Amino acid sequence: MTIAEQIKQIREELHRHNYNYYVLDRPEISDFEFDQKLKRLIEFEVTYPEYDDPNSPTKRVGGGLTSGFETIVHRNRMYSLDNSYSKQDLIDWEKRLQKVVESDISYTCELKYDGASISLTYEDGKLSRAVTRGDGVQGDDVTANIRTMHSVPLQIQPPFPDIFDIRGEIILPLIGFQKMNKIRLANGEEPYRNPRNTASGSLKLQDSREVAKRPLECMLYSIVGAQTLANTQFESLELARKWGFKVPEHNILARTLSEVFEFIEHWDHHRNDLPYEIDGVVIKVNSLKHQEQLGYTSKSPRWAMAYKFQAEQAITILEHISYQVGRTGAITPVANLSPVELAGTTVKRASLHNADQIAKLDVRIGDAVFVEKGGEIIPKIVGVDMAQRKSDTLKVEYITHCPECHSLLLRHEGEAHHYCPNVDQCPPQIIGRIEHFISRKAMDIEGLGGETVTLLVTNQLIDNYADLYTLTKAQLLPLERMAAKSVDNLIEGIIKSKSQPFQRVLFALGIRFVGETVAQNLAKHFKSIDSLIQASQEELVAVDDIGERIAESVRSFFSDSKQLEIVNRLKSYGLQLEAQEAAVPISTLLQGCNIVVSGVFKNLSRDQLKLLIEQHGGKVVSSISSKTSFVVAGENMGPSKLEKSQKLGVSIKSEDQFLSEINAEV
Ligand code: AMP
Ligand code: ZN
Repeated sequence: MTIAEQIKQIREELHRHNYNYYVLDRPEISDFEFDQKLKRLIEFEVTYPEYDDPNSPTKRVGGGLTSGFETIVHRNRMYSLDNSYSKQDLIDWEKRLQKVVESDISYTCELKYDGASISLTYEDGKLSRAVTRGDGVQGDDVTANIRTMHSVPLQIQPPFPDIFDIRGEIILPLIGFQKMNKIRLANGEEPYRNPRNTASGSLKLQDSREVAKRPLECMLYSIVGAQTLANTQFESLELARKWGFKVPEHNILARTLSEVFEFIEHWDHHRNDLPYEIDGVVIKVNSLKHQEQLGYTSKSPRWAMAYKFQAEQAITILEHISYQVGRTGAITPVANLSPVELAGTTVKRASLHNADQIAKLDVRIGDAVFVEKGGEIIPKIVGVDMAQRKSDTLKVEYITHCPECHSLLLRHEGEAHHYCPNVDQCPPQIIGRIEHFISRKAMDIEGLGGETVTLLVTNQLIDNYADLYTLTKAQLLPLERMAAKSVDNLIEGIIKSKSQPFQRVLFALGIRFVGETVAQNLAKHFKSIDSLIQASQEELVAVDDIGERIAESVRSFFSDSKQLEIVNRLKSYGLQLEAQEAAVPISTLLQGCNIVVSGVFKNLSRDQLKLLIEQHGGKVVSSISSKTSFVVAGENMGPSKLEKSQKLGVSIKSEDQFLSEINAEV
């Protein structure tokens, strides 16, 4: 095979496996094998740049900055949809349809995905352009960003027209949205408000690598000009599915309006069971011939209708407002409500976001308020029923002092939240920082949880995380709920945490905006806390993914003498404040692999084997889980490990097999 043929073959394979994984959710090969193939392709592309292809599977990771998006006139105008809110609206609509169409009308019923619309152009079966809706006539060219989304095929299955447009919605599933917010909160950033805005905001990010990290999906709902290949909307959806697009299976073909009503009722009740948000359903005349007869108004097709669900709302009384203080000192006002049923749960609290939001809503204690539940983590108040307002209510006076430590609150220019500046003595800030320090992705201290931290702080045994390392049994035993066994576990957990690697310690310090990845990059680049402390603004921004804002935050943290003292104490207790001398890299063959080593080996020692894995970019982990890529087994592999790997379907490689695999490819 020529090089060109080999490259073509791997690309096709990878497109297929990508489709199996992201569209069908039915992978045929392991992540490890996929990564191996991808690595081979990357190596080919690096060696033979003349075969570069913008639709290569390697382009999914993004890269390159876009400064401003090019405006593109849509090949076919993107119309909006007429809205309906009741059965009567739909009955009226059908009457209008029947004036134009003589024969029986059937409909496709689809979900109305709540995201950002996109128009994709395919030429020769390859994605050539992706444009946002814009004003319907022209939009922004966001092709580089769309390429990173795994559910968008870069190359489709024949037969297909030479050129066609296909339309869909970019959405952010709820789990992905919640994950993104968790990370933001851990970094001391404000959470995103809802999945829809986050999805549409993502399309406009300048750095496609950033987009690649977001778990966005593309749901397709119409092929423009499908008449030559399909007779109906329903068939054209099937066709899109065959081409490799993600088209949800929930769509149905309805022969009568009453079947349409059933569909609407079903999804009005079950919308919360979906892994993503919808704001209604879309009903389309099924026959493409009928669609053509019906045509368009100046704004929308006459053959389609959106049916919008009422946002799930409840009305209840605002009893009082409480104020929470986060680990960074940010104040969040929370509405405490008379309990009310909403979308299957009892709601007692709702978010009020910040002082401006309270002023904007003019919400007052005792008001009857409208509560809505969207993709947000907690429900929000969207309005006040003014008709029910009592005459003796007063405007809410936002607090001026910290509810916990009574310091005067500050509000920085341009920031939405008030802050308690009493970083060192404000209890929720103290507790929040320690909780972050011990959390699973930071120091992961076993035997210590949020409640115990509060107990230790309120009993004045600790007031910063360095104090954890001075705790003694004698101090702990008298505490409530502290049996001898749990004291032992706690102390042991604390001692064990001293061997956590530098990057984790760095993350655990809780420097604002320094999340896990940033901590890793900093650790890799500066190698020790001392050189990080010395680093200038310029040196910091030179590191991957570190911008001015993060750099400033790092500098301000380490210019605080109290923080420095704590860091010095951590050092004196033996925490890892230097990166372990990294193994000299040999290849990236095992990059992304989590490997378990078990048993006794004949050619080399366990430590040598571990070193070898690291030198090839792999990671050695101690226990087998579903994330384990494979096990390298020597003689006498532990029986429980053997059983577990068989149960989870993790493959086992012998020492010889493993060595020959890595040698063969080096
Ligand atoms: P609106 O923005 O309320 O005018 O609704 C029109 C938008 O709904 C379209 O631009 C699409 O982005 C979106 N939409 C979501 N799901 C569908 C669907 N199944 N069919 C057509 N449009 C949809
Ligand atoms: Zn305070």
